Amino acid sequence: MRKYELPKLNFNFSDLEPYMDEKTVEIHYSKHHQNYLNNFLTIIEKYPQINELEITEILKNINSYDLPTEDKQKIINNGGGYYNHNLFWLNLGKEKELNEKLKQEIIENFNSLENFKKEFSEKSISHFASGWTWLIRDENNKLQIYSLKNQDCPLTLGHIPILNLDLWEHAYYLKYQNRRADFIENFWNIIKILDL
Ligand code: MN
Repeated sequence: MRKYELPKLNFNFSDLEPYMDEKTVEIHYSKHHQNYLNNFLTIIEKYPQINELEITEILKNINSYDLPTEDKQKIINNGGGYYNHNLFWLNLGKEKELNEKLKQEIIENFNSLENFKKEFSEKSISHFASGWTWLIRDENNKLQIYSLKNQDCPLTLGHIPILNLDLWEHAYYLKYQNRRADFIENFWNIIKILDL
């Protein structure tokens, strides 16, 4: 079985203050993210034909394996929860590591950085209940923004995830309570790959 692990964070829990508070980041990473990983390990242990693969491969091909419906859903939920958070943390930080190529592509696809930011924020605000907002590259190499429920992952749709925002209450509730729009607005301050 492959050794699936939590990624090492490139920042300390308090480094995203005041936009994401220390306590939330700590619980989010060491409890929620860890819990998705633990549950994923428990279920994937049963499937040696799959558990040597990268998590990205598993999520990409989840519909092509011969799995009982319930276990397949557990892998979607917990493997998705594991992978989605890996990407989330990777893109966060106050020290910028700008991706100029991505910036140019965003401008080409959404006309301007402002439009991109507006569309991403609006889709985040209007998403109902738990899920994530995604910036993805589709099969025609075009960038798209959409939200998906729960821990569903664009990899399963054949898309390549680029940037994501966690819309689950555990991502913001301690600091922001019901003010999800404020949390979404503050997210732009801690994306390290884009200057928005
Ligand atoms: Mn989360």
